[in-house]
Amino acid sequence: MAARLIIGLGLTVLTLILAGQRVRWLYTLIHSGQPASGRTKELGARLKTQLVEVFGQRRLLNWTVPGLAHFFTFWGFVVLLTVYVEAYGALFTEHFAIPLIGRSPVLGFIQDLIALAVLVSIITFAVLRIRQDPERRQRSSRFYGSHTGGAWLILFMIFNVIWTLFLFRGTEVNNGTFPYPSGAFGSEAAGALLAPLGPETNRVMETVGLLLHIGVMLAFLIIVLYSKHLHIFVAPINVAAKRMPKALGPLLPMESGGKEIDFEDPDEDDTFGRGKIEDFTWKGMLDFATCTECGRCQSQCPAWNTGKPLSPKLVIMDLRDHLFAKAPYLIGGQTLPESPDHSDIDVLALAAGNGHVPESGFSRVPGSGPEQAARPLVGSAEVGGVIDPDVLWSCTTCGACVEQCPVDIEHIDHIVDMRRYQVLIETEFPTELGTLFRNLENKGNPWGQNSSARMDWAKGLDFEVPQLAEETLPDEVEYLFWIGCAGAFDDNARRTVRATAELLHIAGVNYVVLGDGETCNGDPARRSGNEFVFQLLAQQNVEVLNTVFEGRGPGRRKIVTTCPHCFNTLGREYPQLDGHYEVVHHTQLLNQLVREGKLTPVPGGDGPAVTYHDPCYLGRHNEVYSPPRELVGASGAQLTEMPRHADRSMCCGAGGARMWMEERIGKRVNEDRVDEAIATQTSAIATGCPFCRVMLTDGLTAREAEGTAGKTTEVIDVAQLLLTSVKRGDPAPPAQAE
Ligand code: SF4
Ligand code: SF4
Repeated sequence: MAARLIIGLGLTVLTLILAGQRVRWLYTLIHSGQPASGRTKELGARLKTQLVEVFGQRRLLNWTVPGLAHFFTFWGFVVLLTVYVEAYGALFTEHFAIPLIGRSPVLGFIQDLIALAVLVSIITFAVLRIRQDPERRQRSSRFYGSHTGGAWLILFMIFNVIWTLFLFRGTEVNNGTFPYPSGAFGSEAAGALLAPLGPETNRVMETVGLLLHIGVMLAFLIIVLYSKHLHIFVAPINVAAKRMPKALGPLLPMESGGKEIDFEDPDEDDTFGRGKIEDFTWKGMLDFATCTECGRCQSQCPAWNTGKPLSPKLVIMDLRDHLFAKAPYLIGGQTLPESPDHSDIDVLALAAGNGHVPESGFSRVPGSGPEQAARPLVGSAEVGGVIDPDVLWSCTTCGACVEQCPVDIEHIDHIVDMRRYQVLIETEFPTELGTLFRNLENKGNPWGQNSSARMDWAKGLDFEVPQLAEETLPDEVEYLFWIGCAGAFDDNARRTVRATAELLHIAGVNYVVLGDGETCNGDPARRSGNEFVFQLLAQQNVEVLNTVFEGRGPGRRKIVTTCPHCFNTLGREYPQLDGHYEVVHHTQLLNQLVREGKLTPVPGGDGPAVTYHDPCYLGRHNEVYSPPRELVGASGAQLTEMPRHADRSMCCGAGGARMWMEERIGKRVNEDRVDEAIATQTSAIATGCPFCRVMLTDGLTAREAEGTAGKTTEVIDVAQLLLTSVKRGDPAPPAQAE
């Protein structure tokens, strides 16, 4: 007894000292990040999220098989803590039992059941890892670029926890020291297997099993704290500190030192975006430390899936590895050196040598030496950049990564923050963006068109589109119809706004448009990192809109728009500039009008077969999935879903200002999406976004030119589908839709 007490407690104290040192180091490192505002507000909602996401494992369960395996492993960790209480008790007294519940057959049964469930779970994980073997499947594996050796070690350690548990408990059964009279079926079975070894051997094996069980846990603790499996401890903290309700929809305002930057009068020492790893907030650093390398984000990323070097997982891993490698300079008291030359470093050889992949920018400069500290955060291989510009600028901000991440990492915010520094401080960005920024600044729209042409879309309609004549909205007007730049200047998008205007007219909705009073909402500027231009445009619009809605309280400041980017920016970003409006997407309003009987679609015959493409800024960013689908159904069309739809929809390639950049690497995102749509063999691809519409039309045109798509397929907006069916029942339509 004395020997096992001394060994057990000695190992524990040693481990706690090592663990304590590591925890202190991690805390100091993450605490060295910039302040992050708003992370402790809404405590009730945060508590609920903790219950749902951590204890309920909701996000993990989005992927059924690995989700269930993780669910049982997580709860195994929780329940088996009681076995460790018993193990430590057994160090002191052979007949230890947890007070009150420690002899209940129910607890014994639950402990053994969950232990076996964990065993089945780790076998499941092993099978999944073999099936997803990155060596064999390369980029199509979600584990490509992950540290697979560490993952196998963790599975092995969990296996060790389980078999030592049954060894220790089985011998206890045979030695009469087991606290449970019945119920612990697994331990009793283990005891039956070990009984033939005889009482003396069983007594020795009880001590060996007990010390092994405790030793495995202590070794596990050290491995977890010193590896990427840190998430076991930090994920609940990361989830608790996440952006509420999630890091999609609006972007955060630019902050420096925890304070919002005043673009009209910035402080001299303000940091614009993230140009160095230490510019990230503590929440950013916690994100990096929390990544489990599960690759769910990577598997959904449109850039990665079309051959670009961007993987959201590798971005987070690279930032984490760089943060840890630079730590001696951030918290270790070492002085940051001047920028050394990295030109002699063979990137590919390094990547091959350290078991990593060429897409990882971190492996360009190994170690924690001065080169690591001085390398640029964003830069090409030649300069040893941690994040390659091709990685940074490939992101469409589609949100698939954020949506899928089981530990609530905020990829888009980090990517946009790095873009902000590149644009505002380094003036380093794809050349095409220069034209975009000029058009936005000089003309107020990305196309560089004159604002006098903003009402051209309405020409030829059989009714007058009401345009705001005064500064303020007349009392009887319910909606401001925000046309957006695409609706005003792009031929295809004009068809959408014409159809919507007609439907509003038919339904008798009292609305007005602003005409040349509109300016670009600023979304492409903001998502490409040009916060300065965004602020300029947004302030201008907010000023106009606040005048338009002057005197109107909440609930009467209604805007309808056909563009999900306008929908997101006006409704969810303008409150940051004191612009508060109730913005609805046209599919939501039209759906409401159908339900109220103000629009009566008449299905014709069998109806066309249609597939629906979810725009990222309508779907994932704002969770509007049903209204457009209901409208497709109401119009009599047969909806065939693409394999990737709703929250797992594939991007069209236009978001994050990618619409205005050349796509030079890999397969074109829009063509990949159109291929999926063509495979549904439907006659129309319906959508609810002018930018998706442009991208899908371009993709379809390319496939038609190649002969892989029939000329009968078309890209249309849901509003057009609805208008056609409404007109079927109207003998005297007020206008002709194009
Ligand atoms: S937002 Fe979309 S494109 Fe950007 S990294 Fe995430 S999944 Fe990839
Ligand atoms: S989904 Fe989240 S945890 Fe998984 S690899 Fe991506 S960033 Fe890391």
